[in-house]
Amino acid sequence: MDVLRRWFGKIKSKDKVKGSKKKDGVGNGKQGPEMPASEDLPSNATKQKVAAAKQYIETHYKEQMKNLQQRKDRRDMLERKLADADVSKEEHSNILKYLEKKETEYMRLQRHKMGADDFEALTMIGKGAFGEVRICREKSTSHVYAMKKLKKSEMLRRGQVEHVKAERNLLAEVDSNCIVKLYCSFQDEEFLYLIMEYLPGGDMMTLLMRKDTLTEDEARFYVAETVLAIESIHKHNYIHRDIKPDNLLLDRYGHMKLSDFGLCKPLDCSELQEKDFSVGNNFSGALQSDGRPVPPKRSQQEQLQHWQMNRRMLAYSTVGTPDYIAPEVLLKKGYGMECDWWSLGAILYEMLVGYPPFYSDEPMSTCRKIVNWRHHLKFPEEAKLSEEAKDLICKLLCNVDQRLGTNGADEIKAHPWFKGIEWDKLYQMEAAFIPEVNDELDTQNFEKFEETENQTQPSSKSGPWRKMLSSKDVNFVGYTYKNFEIVNNHEVSGIAELKKKNKTKRPTIQSLFDDESDMAAN
Ligand code: ADP
Ligand code: MG
Repeated sequence: MDVLRRWFGKIKSKDKVKGSKKKDGVGNGKQGPEMPASEDLPSNATKQKVAAAKQYIETHYKEQMKNLQQRKDRRDMLERKLADADVSKEEHSNILKYLEKKETEYMRLQRHKMGADDFEALTMIGKGAFGEVRICREKSTSHVYAMKKLKKSEMLRRGQVEHVKAERNLLAEVDSNCIVKLYCSFQDEEFLYLIMEYLPGGDMMTLLMRKDTLTEDEARFYVAETVLAIESIHKHNYIHRDIKPDNLLLDRYGHMKLSDFGLCKPLDCSELQEKDFSVGNNFSGALQSDGRPVPPKRSQQEQLQHWQMNRRMLAYSTVGTPDYIAPEVLLKKGYGMECDWWSLGAILYEMLVGYPPFYSDEPMSTCRKIVNWRHHLKFPEEAKLSEEAKDLICKLLCNVDQRLGTNGADEIKAHPWFKGIEWDKLYQMEAAFIPEVNDELDTQNFEKFEETENQTQPSSKSGPWRKMLSSKDVNFVGYTYKNFEIVNNHEVSGIAELKKKNKTKRPTIQSLFDDESDMAAN
């Protein structure tokens, strides 16, 4: 509490100095002898500062008390375990000493403000509209991580700040073996950084491009792990809204983890209507809504080749691929967690057929097909899907009220296609494919990116959007496809708020993340 008193003292004396300056004529002249009483009363700004200081201090001490309690709990637990174990007195004392050493190291790490200088940035493994992902090495420990670097000005311009915070918070909050782990986050003048565990197995998009299609057994393994990943974020009241193969990463052993909770690239389909049948009817002479002829029907193989030719381009384009987005999200009808289960259905279809269910040459045609899914969901004969697989896909790619998963992940887990899956042991099982990884810096399972200057300078037309919202935030944002500007009020007000903050003392956008570099919980 001494600190609090000192704060109050400082603020009060500063206020007095200000008041006396004004009296001397340096101020705006409005406060003069005719308003003597106001000098003793704190101004609104002062009250706000006091409230902020109070909150800061309270949170700080609460956090400290929590940490101390947790430390004590860990020691108590270890002592209980040691009491039950058959260890000598000497061993007992050594183990406790070891724990204390680790606790001290952890505290030291927490106090240390991490920064980009603490890491050596190495090979680029991903590139997005806001920045890039690289493997990096922590200089002090030599540990290898993945570093996601996001350009602040671009996020600010697009009103993505709240979303990046949500990404950071989710990654730090959800400690699950199906979610990519975040170690710490920090910022400098220009960028925000997320330091995550490096998953050297590559992403599911790359795996699918290498394999064309998966067998039902292989697909079952990855889809089941995706079910667990989606379930774990839903339990924390988050909706991903952009589950797609590029965001499913594989670890050293081939197990899947969900990532990228921050940014994605949407299309505005506000002009779409569910009864718009103008795409993909495939009868000769038919015209699409823009007057162009409907492309001739392709065989499964031709469609697959076409998809593969476009896939990477779509992934790295500033607009992204809409192939896995649920119709209610595209139509901005308001949506809930079920939208992630739709994406799961689209991924399962792609794994078995080779391309996603509503693939089309143009992203807007894909959107139209998605909202008119009843007319466009077809299974090519050549793909020879089992009846159970088709049934599961149809129960995921359907209206929200009939969609499996609406009443929880257990509904999906109980579907006959998953018969035989041991859900509790999935992450201990051998994966469907074990990736080839030769050493900790091996990036062979990733696309090669050319190093150019201004790597993180996205095109001025880039328009990524946020996909991770709290499930409470059911009514989603709007975007215009043509200029990719975000038009949602919530987003715009986010920018305004940050701009306001930006005018305060700090020259940079320090308020994007907390002032301190944060060590994530895990
Ligand atoms: P974006 O918002 O640009 O899609 P992502 O977080 O999805 O950003 O990262 C882009 C790509 O970088 C991913 O598709 C993946 O290939 C790679 N990547 C991202 N994070 C990691 C990680 N922790 N380990 C390995 N690769 C990663
Ligand atoms: Mg991504």
